[in-house]
Amino acid sequence: MNKIIRKTEELEQWRLELKNDINFIPTMGNLHDGHLKLISTAKSSNCNINLVSIFVNPLQFESKEDLKNYPITIGKDIEIACSAGADAIFIPDRADIYPPNNKSISYLKASKELSSALCGIRREGHFDGVCTVVFRLLKLVQPKNLYLGEKDWQQLLILKNLVLEKKLNVNIISIPTQRDSDGIPLSSRNVHLSNKERKLIRFFSNELLIAKNNFKKEKKINLKEIIQKLSAEKILIEYLDHLHPYTLQNLGADDNISILAGAIRCGKTRLIDHVFLMKRSPIIAIDGPAGSGKSTVTKLIANKLKLLYLDTGAMYRALSWLLLKEKIDYKKETELNHILKDISIVFKSNANSHQDIFINNYCVTEEIRSQEISSIVSKISSIKEVRQLLVEEQRKIGESGGLVAEGRDIGTTVFPDAELKIFLTASINERAKRRKSDKKSKDSQEIDLNKLKELIKKRDFEDSNREISPLIKANDAIEIITDGYSINEVVDKIIDLYNDKIPKEIQIQ
Ligand code: C5P
Repeated sequence: MNKIIRKTEELEQWRLELKNDINFIPTMGNLHDGHLKLISTAKSSNCNINLVSIFVNPLQFESKEDLKNYPITIGKDIEIACSAGADAIFIPDRADIYPPNNKSISYLKASKELSSALCGIRREGHFDGVCTVVFRLLKLVQPKNLYLGEKDWQQLLILKNLVLEKKLNVNIISIPTQRDSDGIPLSSRNVHLSNKERKLIRFFSNELLIAKNNFKKEKKINLKEIIQKLSAEKILIEYLDHLHPYTLQNLGADDNISILAGAIRCGKTRLIDHVFLMKRSPIIAIDGPAGSGKSTVTKLIANKLKLLYLDTGAMYRALSWLLLKEKIDYKKETELNHILKDISIVFKSNANSHQDIFINNYCVTEEIRSQEISSIVSKISSIKEVRQLLVEEQRKIGESGGLVAEGRDIGTTVFPDAELKIFLTASINERAKRRKSDKKSKDSQEIDLNKLKELIKKRDFEDSNREISPLIKANDAIEIITDGYSINEVVDKIIDLYNDKIPKEIQIQ
């Protein structure tokens, strides 16, 4: 039998006796498939104990009537939660969460910026109530992971902000909006809908979906037109806004991802829905010096996140190989320009699911890793015409996004609007050791470690001090120093950062 906990003292006792960490899934009950997905996702992602709470928080209701009408189905909820993977269920009553005369309870205010848009404007105090109850529950439960749905996107942003602000030691893991078979988002409030009202919300959700698909082609939306279509169906729109997805403020011209979010009223029920619009799929930029582990890490990330892998260093190396082979004096502009006019660089997957690189139809995957190429590539990559050509090619490859690219200038020049920028580095000792054991660069294995350090330092210097797009950390890049970390730890860290930034709904498109 799963544990049912009703009192805070009981919860504390239970928690102190636990040997595992806790996955926490806070709910207001009346569980539906969306909640079940949260519980089962938590269950399948680790060996922690799954605790589901059921508490209808009075502080987040603006009207007494809405609170009174909120569906309460505790018996059924316990059954459903247990079958989905809850190990324990916490069902406190109001006096447990908000003991009267208890001065230690903090009544919080939600982030001003994040609550000054969408639902925050129309539901005064709602997000303050959400922050207050979640903070109180987190203090009581002390979970390792907190599972939340992206359906309440604004709430998710506000709670992420709360965790940061209060320096709480909890990971927030989100799941995409779960929808019914007719496309409408699952919500406890759906039980109040009549057939006619359900038809209206279906129309609304479908219009958002149409807008999202149109945006893919046209890269713009016409809010007025959507509002007119909804109004023609007599749908009562509370708001429909197109905003920045993380700040919920107005969009800048260059923003790639945006949110189209709306709230409508169907009879007595208020329903929200949103879609994310994208000009292109997300991009991860990974820059850093030689031997920082970029290639290994980038390839693994591409594999795990099912993104395209782009090794821009291989392109500079391939070009260097061709110039050597054709005995081109790259210092002579006309000779160089002549050969650059007709270059084709192509990546192709090989039988081992690795990438081969071809330049003018020569497969040069192995040759470009020689010390001979490593020793000239920085000179060649500092030439303006070379960079112009290769950056243009790289941008073409990344035009529709959905890729992780590694190099020296990805976050600063090639894809300055990448959603996630990482600057990967390590001490010179560590990098030389890695190069020496790198099976791909056979020459490096034979070079003395100190000599290898000197060669890497020289390349770092040339890459960091060239005039055009030198190797520097982009202002908005996150630096990861990989000394002492395993490859998997670095990969997991970057994937966590990506998951934190990119809504799951976008990741599964
Ligand atoms: O990453 P890898 O060691 O293969 O890169 C080889 C060289 O290519 C670098 O040392 C640098 O000179 C050049 N490069 C560059 N810009 C990039 C990627 C690589 O200048 N985006």
